[in-house]
Amino acid sequence: MSRTPLLIAGAFNAEERARLEAAHSSTYVAGPEEMGALDDETRAQVRAIAYKGHKAFGGDAMDHFPNLGVIANFGVGYDAIDVSAASARGVKVTNTPDVLNDDVADLAVAMLLAQSRNMIAGDARARTGLWAKEGELPLNRKASGSSVGIVGLGRIGREIADRLAAFKMDIHYHARSEKETPGWTFHADVVSLAQAVDFMVIALVGGPATENYVTREAIEALGPRGVIINISRGTTIDEGAMLDALENGTIAGAGLDVFLNEPNIDPRFAALDNVVLQPHQGSGTVETRRAMAMLQLDNVTAHLEGKDLVTPVN
Ligand code: NAP
Repeated sequence: MSRTPLLIAGAFNAEERARLEAAHSSTYVAGPEEMGALDDETRAQVRAIAYKGHKAFGGDAMDHFPNLGVIANFGVGYDAIDVSAASARGVKVTNTPDVLNDDVADLAVAMLLAQSRNMIAGDARARTGLWAKEGELPLNRKASGSSVGIVGLGRIGREIADRLAAFKMDIHYHARSEKETPGWTFHADVVSLAQAVDFMVIALVGGPATENYVTREAIEALGPRGVIINISRGTTIDEGAMLDALENGTIAGAGLDVFLNEPNIDPRFAALDNVVLQPHQGSGTVETRRAMAMLQLDNVTAHLEGKDLVTPVN
């Protein structure tokens, strides 16, 4: 048995880190770039890495650890980790699916409503005295009863669709395969989906296979009443084309939790008044982050005790 079998790597908060440290003898680094600076003896002892963050974690970083067996990711999206490189080295990757579905779906719906009901401007009007000076907000837009297209009807996409069905919305979706969803309309491609709906919610996995999956053509096909909600990853949409469309009025607006180059997002977003922007906080509640931390720890412990992983990816 190695003395320090766990490496904790990434942007954990104090509670998350303390829980891992209490469970297993561990060493901490800020991220993949710092892994090479650990001494040889420590690196040889590491059998599991608890990882949190969006910095690329590739094969070079894995090669620092000759006895590494598992990388347990904090989060369902593991696009930062090179899973092919891990598999090639016999390293298992785990993630934290399902426990965050509700929160991410809630935030998607919150952004959709905030965008369509112009709640950011409404808040400013109520709190700054503009209401007394200029009167009511210009009328905004009805969300209930409209049509929505979900891009990626997986665990989170389905929770979003279920919520929006309760808002009496006509549900359309695109995924790689058609689902058993009576009353909902499947589209074989994103352009056809965009043409059919007012709101488009992106709930795809991230990573190279879905890069720019929502193309300029699909964005333009949404039309001038179209609103994009993205809770997936900044990479899944052609961000430059979306910014052009938001600036030109080609589409009506957007609600976005994810961006390219987080946290240093494109300054063009800040100049727009038809967007609701969130700092990648889809799973960011006390309850859900705790559940994610527990699932990550369960995976680490399972590996270190020679048991089956709880939520393996590869
Ligand atoms: P999931 O259950 O795996 O669903 C992913 C969806 O993406 C599925 O509908 C799948 O299609 C589709 N998809 C996967 N690969 C594809 C490809 N190559 N081409 C086209 N479609 C593809 O994942 P989930 O648990 O719902 O999570 C979705 C994503 O949400 C995560 O990967 C993560 O990036 C993001 N997320 C964001 C936050 C946040 O804080 N904003 C929090 C959690 C997760 P099929 O149904 O046909 O398989």
